[in-house]
Amino acid sequence: MNVLISLDGLSYKSFERWSQSFIDLGFSYCKKMITTFPSVTFNAHATAITGNSHDQHLIFDNVVADVANAATIERIALYGDHELLCNEALHRQTLFYSLAMHDLKSSCIHWPLTTGNPYIHYLVAESSSKKKIEQAGSAADLDTVALHETIQAIESGSYDFIAARFVGYDALSHQYGKDSMEAIHCAESLIGHIHHIYDTLSKSQQAFNLFIFSDHGQSDVQSFFYPNEILAQSRWREHLLNKQIRFIGDGSGSLLFYSRLTQQENQEIMSYFNRWEQVNHFYELGSGSGAESGLGFGSEPGFGSESGSGSGLESGSGSGSGFGTWPGSGSAFRPVGILDLKHTICGEDILAPEQPQYEAMKSLHGYHPDQVEEMNGFMLGIGDRIKQGQIIEQSHLVNIAPTIAKVFQIPHHCKGREIQSLISDTIKEHE
Ligand SMILES: [Zn+2]
Repeated sequence: MNVLISLDGLSYKSFERWSQSFIDLGFSYCKKMITTFPSVTFNAHATAITGNSHDQHLIFDNVVADVANAATIERIALYGDHELLCNEALHRQTLFYSLAMHDLKSSCIHWPLTTGNPYIHYLVAESSSKKKIEQAGSAADLDTVALHETIQAIESGSYDFIAARFVGYDALSHQYGKDSMEAIHCAESLIGHIHHIYDTLSKSQQAFNLFIFSDHGQSDVQSFFYPNEILAQSRWREHLLNKQIRFIGDGSGSLLFYSRLTQQENQEIMSYFNRWEQVNHFYELGSGSGAESGLGFGSEPGFGSESGSGSGLESGSGSGSGFGTWPGSGSAFRPVGILDLKHTICGEDILAPEQPQYEAMKSLHGYHPDQVEEMNGFMLGIGDRIKQGQIIEQSHLVNIAPTIAKVFQIPHHCKGREIQSLISDTIKEHE
């Protein structure tokens, strides 16, 4: 049995204070898991569970716009595991699919964008748990449900793979700050949940591997930036009002830019925004087939392999091979650019007369992880097929799914590569 736990929003720096207690137990520890850009929950979780980046799984952010099927650009929030993006093309990229093809059963708890995934045998959607606990409704209650479901899934012995996500730290970090008493207290209770899961696995008398990671970090907010309001004052005002262009984001360190204009017009808008002091960089996205332009994934160490050779990138990019068989699989939701803001600046997609929603927010994420170190997460692993006590400097979220596939000894086609220094060649004897 293999178990993957996500601690949402806990940066690798914030986690360091707890790392030694896991090392002492024999866990291997990857100090820094380089996250996605935008460094947001849905993109990061889709990347972790598929082993692909957003040019293939097409989950860019927690919000999107439908540019191909709608006459105008409209904002769509994905909260509630929006079924628009939960399509067969996405499901088939998940590790759940590769496992099901080998008659291996999965249980999935509160993982984003899994609605209707037919390759998950037991699915607990975050949205349905939220409805059930509506009265109390806190993130801690949601995590109590996730813990309970995870323990039940382990004790049932019915599943080969369990993926679960805890959301409490992320929620309190946004609300009170990443280092606030409230957020740290919650993180401590989630660390307790992890120990509970580890103890349950250890007592289960069966072979297991346990992985824990975080999808991104947090950093403190100081000021705000509203690019749609800037467009409304610019020479592109008419295009904005006609819903031909729009920035979309959810109180984030970066915003997606959607446009129906020509590439040249888009580039003019990008260079205009690149002059604003709040902007780190306006990245142009490639038009589709897997080869991202401008985002420089090759420069991210550890993306393809731990040595940073970038070999993993070549095999999956280029023609988009393997994904071309699902026509219409999502280019409808593809932004043309990502506006990355400077550290501590929070972007919001409001347009007058809409009022800011996020001014009370203390911490946020979304920034490019190359620019803001705190955006990155960490990973821990222990089990029968994991080397004991390894310390790995860094790897990438895209390598999680292939690493778990390697532990299962099944093929899983994706862009990421297994973290070789984590996996043991020999299976440990289970007592
Ligand atoms: Zn998250």
